[in-house]
Amino acid sequence: MAEPVRSFVYEALPMRVVFGRGRLAAVADEVARLGLRRVLVLSTPGQRALAEKVEELLGDTAVGIFDQARMHVPVETVAGALRVVAELEADGCVSIGGGSTIGLGKALALRRALPVVAVPTTYAGSEMTPIWGLTENSRKQTGRDPAVLPRTVVYDPDLTTSLPPAVSATSGLNAMAHAMEALYAPDGSPVVAAMAEQGVRALALALPVLVKDPADASARANALEGAWLCGACLGATTMGLHHKLCHVLGGMLDLPHADTHSVVLPHVAAFNLAQAPGARSALARALGDEDPAGAIGSLADQVGAPRRLSDLGVRESDLAAVVDEVLANPYANPRPVDRPALVRLLEGAM
Ligand code: NAD
Repeated sequence: MAEPVRSFVYEALPMRVVFGRGRLAAVADEVARLGLRRVLVLSTPGQRALAEKVEELLGDTAVGIFDQARMHVPVETVAGALRVVAELEADGCVSIGGGSTIGLGKALALRRALPVVAVPTTYAGSEMTPIWGLTENSRKQTGRDPAVLPRTVVYDPDLTTSLPPAVSATSGLNAMAHAMEALYAPDGSPVVAAMAEQGVRALALALPVLVKDPADASARANALEGAWLCGACLGATTMGLHHKLCHVLGGMLDLPHADTHSVVLPHVAAFNLAQAPGARSALARALGDEDPAGAIGSLADQVGAPRRLSDLGVRESDLAAVVDEVLANPYANPRPVDRPALVRLLEGAM
């Protein structure tokens, strides 16, 4: 019997990517290319020195630094940054850091339409997506808006060598999760599938090398390239059970983002790939293993990622509320999720 003819929609996101060792030096040219004249540099307190380096590279175009980016973009932080934007009459920003700092830039783009140049230093992938998040009274709200998509992304693998091995490992697994869910997303396409497969392949090869030698330049470049591709998958598709579950766990129990993804990923992979043959084959090719869910678990072990929710502080008594919340609203998933299946999955992850 002939295979069914595929049908899909693919929308390319307007975005410029500059990639390579030492490319941070191009940040002033990239800012000039966008016509920006008064740029605010964003960072976390811990990455202030990197923000100062950007300020120096920008010269007169930099009007200041806001170094208070925080995990999950609290609305209070956004309000503080908006005051600085107004005082300094900033017309754009450079977000240098992980998903938290890039998330702050997106919030400024959402509120004031400020163009963002993103310089990622982790593998989270936020820079490739039009997804914003804001946290108010411990509740994180997310949405999609093309206005928050960074105009330009500068990927410089040299900026990732300081990322500790443990964070590199969990951040890389976080990126892989985007690719896995894109492979079975209802709005997938051949472009997304190609990016997902190559993204997972690159990360799976690079992560074990760079946890042993964080300064390995070629492993860092491969991991960052993989993270870019996986982030682009996240930006192009609708995520399923894995992201829903991590979002609920992280939000309700205040768990670390990338660690939660690392623990949950092998379990959702085992559950979903059993009924997603196309995704399973692509991941089998990418990981060189006929059992991709098992291979993801082995990779997590090999790179020393956390493997148990209980190690993140989750208690058995927390699980019922998590299950209720995950089942409360429908979301796209290749395999129907009911209460007994979800309880089994979470108990496995404990
Ligand atoms: P993060 O940005 O919170 O960074 C973690 C810590 O590592 C921070 O203290 C940071 O300063 C430090 N750090 C970052 N890069 C470093 C480096 N190279 N060397 C040393 N230290 C470094 O962590 P993350 O995992 O990148 O981002 C997580 C956040 O991003 C979550 O809030 C998540 O929801 C969000 N996110 C959003 C999207 C999206 O599309 N909107 C996608 C992925 C993640």
